[in-house]
This record gives sequence, C-alpha cells and structure tokens, in this order.
Amino acid sequence: MIKNLEQFFLDNPPEKRAFIGGEYVEAADGAVMKKGNSYSGFDLSGIADCSEADVDLAVQAAKEAYESGAWSRLDVAKKKEIVLRFAELMEENREEIAALDTIETCRSFQNYYYDSIPKAIEAVRYFAEAVDKVYDKSICGRAGMHGIVKRVPLGVVGVITPWNDPMVVTMWKVIPSLLMGNSVVIKPAEQSSLSTIRVAALMKEAGIPDGVVNVVPGRGEVAGKALALHMDVRGIFFTGSSEIGKKLLEYAGQSNMKKVGLECGGKGPYIVSSKCGDIALAAKTLADNMFYNQGQICSAPSRVIAETSVKDAFIEELEKQCAVYVPDDPYSLESRVGCVVSREQYDKVQAYIAYARECGYTVYQPSDRGTMPEGACYILPTVISGLKPEDKLAKEEIFGPVVVILEAESVNEAVNMANASEYGLAGAVWTDDLNEAYDVAERVEVGLMHINSYGEDDNAAPFGGVKQSGLGKDKSSYAFDEYSDLKTIWMKFR
Ligand code: NAP
Repeated sequence: MIKNLEQFFLDNPPEKRAFIGGEYVEAADGAVMKKGNSYSGFDLSGIADCSEADVDLAVQAAKEAYESGAWSRLDVAKKKEIVLRFAELMEENREEIAALDTIETCRSFQNYYYDSIPKAIEAVRYFAEAVDKVYDKSICGRAGMHGIVKRVPLGVVGVITPWNDPMVVTMWKVIPSLLMGNSVVIKPAEQSSLSTIRVAALMKEAGIPDGVVNVVPGRGEVAGKALALHMDVRGIFFTGSSEIGKKLLEYAGQSNMKKVGLECGGKGPYIVSSKCGDIALAAKTLADNMFYNQGQICSAPSRVIAETSVKDAFIEELEKQCAVYVPDDPYSLESRVGCVVSREQYDKVQAYIAYARECGYTVYQPSDRGTMPEGACYILPTVISGLKPEDKLAKEEIFGPVVVILEAESVNEAVNMANASEYGLAGAVWTDDLNEAYDVAERVEVGLMHINSYGEDDNAAPFGGVKQSGLGKDKSSYAFDEYSDLKTIWMKFR
C-alpha cells in the first residue's frame, strides 16, 4: 500500500495530457492548468488545458471511430468481454486510481480506496453483465407486417463530470454509453482530471479501439462549452450544478438539438416524524450519509425537517455523531474524512456558516477540532437550527458538511416544506407507521426516496432527480435508454 502519497507522485508523476485518438497528447496550444491541492498545497500544475481546437480533434477522432464500426457494430458479447476486462484492470490499479483522486480532491484515501473506487468498478461490471439481458421489442399485431423497435447508438456523445466522486460518476455515464455503441469524449472537472486521464489508457489496454474514448481536460467554460456546442456531438451527459445544467440545455438549443442528460444539485429533505421509533439510528444514518465526503454529495440529506416533539432529541443525537466525522489527514488510510476540494469551496461554505452566526441561529460544531495542519481546507461537521424554511440556508445547496434543522408541526407540514424546493434529488422519512411512511414517500417530490434508511445503493436502481435536480436517470438498465435512441424498422412479407 502506498505509504506517502505526495512522495509516490513525486517519484511517479501522473499522466497529465489529454487522450485523443488512443494517444496522450499535449493541448494544441501547449496550455496547462495551474493548481495546488487543498490539504498541503501539493503542486498539481501541468494538466492539459484543452481548448476548442482540442475538442474538435477529439470529436473528429470519436466520429471516425464511430463510423468505422470497429466498436459501434461490434457484437454485444465482445463489448461485454472487453468492458469486463476493463473492470479487472481497474481492480488491479485500484490503489493508484484511489491515490490519484485523493491527491487531487483531498477526500480521504480510505473513502476512495474502500468505497468509491470499488463502487465505480461494481458499476462497470453491472452494466457489462446487464447489457445482453436488455431486449429490443417487436410489433407483431398487423398481418403480413412486423416491426422491430431497437435501441440505436446516438453517435458521438460528450460526458462532463464533477469533482465530488470522479470515477463513480464517470463510469455511470461512460460505460452504458460505450455498451450502446457510442464513441465518447469526456471533459472531467478541473479539480479531478487525473483518474479519468489514467483510466482512458486502461480502456485502451482492455481492447476498446482508438478514438472510441477520448479525454479533454480543461476549463468548463472553454472545453466543456465547446463540447456541448459541437455540431457532431449527438448527446451531452452532465453531472454538476443546476446552474451549469441549464447552460447545457441552452447550448443544445443553440447547436444541433443534441440529447441532454442532467444530474444536478440537491437539498435532500430528511423528515423525522413523531412516530420515528429510533431517533438515535435516524441521526446516525444522517451523519453517515451527510459527512463522509465533507458534505460534497449531491444526494446528501442536508435539510432535516423534524416534527416538534422529536426535534430536540434528534439534534442531541446528531451532535453526538458529529464527533465521528471530524476531518483528519486525507492521505491516511485511517482517516474517514479529509478536506473540501478547494480553497474556493472552503470559502463558500464558511461564508454560509458565518451568515448563520450573524443571523443568531444556533450553530453546533464538535469541540474536538482534529489535528489538521494550518492552511488545510477542512470544515467541521456543522448543525444549524433555529432558522425558518424561507432562509437561504434552507433553500440553497451548500455542498459542505452543513445540515440545517427545520421544525414542522405535523408530517403534512413537513411534506409541504420538503416540496417547497426547486431541487428534487433524494429524500427520506423516518416513521414506524407504515401508512404514514408510504404516503410521505409517494408525496415528496424526489427521484429517490428512502423509508427509515438513506443512501441505499444498488446498481439495479435508477439514480437521478426531478425538478431542477436533473433530467434523465443514471444506473440500472434504464440507463441504456438514456445513452441510445429508438428506431423502428418495418418489414412487410409477401
Ligand atoms: P459544476 O461547477 O456545475 O461543474 C460540473 C462540470 O461542468 C465540470 O466539469 C465543469 O468544469 C463543467 N462546466 C462548468 N461550466 C461549464 C460550461 N459553461 N459548459 C460546460 N461545462 C461546464 O459542478 P461541480 O462544482 O463540479 O460539482 C458540484 C455540483 O455537482 C453540485 O451542485 C452537486 O450537487 C452536483 N452533483 C450532482 C450529482 C447527481 O448525480 N445529481 C452528482 C454529483 C454532483 P470545471 O471543472 O472547469 O468547472
């Protein structure tokens, strides 16, 4: 196991170039990005800063590969075999991939190594195993006629990813795209490009033909925008903020009406009813799902709505749980929690906490502040109560380890509060009353609802939001529908 991450990458400098047409290449104008990480400032400068010219080259390579049929028309069984081989290669390189994500994002190595990267690999395997169990359909109700309704690839698709869970999100999108026969151009987030650059070579090693997968690291407003506006890109699939998601819809309209898939932000409502039979478990489950990545989780249960009779007991239990998630050295396999991704993100989250204090709300943080060095961008688990549902803290996605607690006089009022949000990704209700549980689960406007649980993760379940949390779904066999189109072929018999 790697003992010292920084020394490891000084001895083994990671690949920082773009991956186009099966080769690593510098950006056409030689531009690179400059940055240091959020734990120690470790220098990560030098990642290619791709421009429109590089995106053009990548799309051209993807288009030629697509049109050659070498991948797009390859037997599904062969595609499956190659993708399963890629999963094996990820497994063999798991430590390095986890280390790359850690050094860039400063989320804990423990979390990447034991949780995130294994989940990404599981997703790859799930899609590979599922693809030959998905059938096309036929229409056979008309005499002498037969119709086949089949999924067809879109062609070249663009994938734009965020930094908060780089490999999981990339695999959720790229693997079903590939299995449907598309060629792909990936624009990873600026703060988490290295693992995507690395796995592109593993895809090639597994047998994916050159040009089928391309990676163009760079800035969103340059490389991402160029990809989303490209006339030869037929689908753009994005995970990130709702603000940028809306821009992608505009880019699709300004260019070629490409298909758009969006997984965006959230403000997960977590309803605790007076009929909740285990307040301590409800609080622990919230902490486990809220704090493990410094709260940088789109589906985080960041908005508790507790009935008056259980609110104080819930807060008391949650405060106890905060101590478990005090951040520590992200490079250590012993630490559960590391830093937030950047100084910019740190300042943004701290500004919300400062605002809560200025407003006179109750702000709880554990007294143990951990042993992080001076300058490391970490934030203690924070619980804010005493605010109204209309407050910006209860409405905006903070994307840090900050939970707000709202009070409702009844479960009905809690549901109304939950739905008074433009977000609709994930939510939960805690109650021992089955009728109440099911009623609330049906009425809360989210893509993913939990009863007496949270974060239940299964590749067989679709993932994605409603309202401004997104369009379309990742994961499960439904994902194949997102990354393909339907075509009907009619046959007439004499
Ligand atoms: P972001 O700022 O929206 O960026 C996401 C990606 O879009 C990055 O690669 C970014 O590039 C790129 N981008 C930025 N501006 C662009 C533009 N004008 N055109 C095309 N691409 C552009 O989001 P983030 O800060 O990376 O991630 C946090 C957000 O993602 C949160 O809102 C979170 O809730 C959401 N998220 C949602 C899910 C989900 O499944 N629903 C999962 C994870 C995260 P740069 O890196 O250069 O900015």
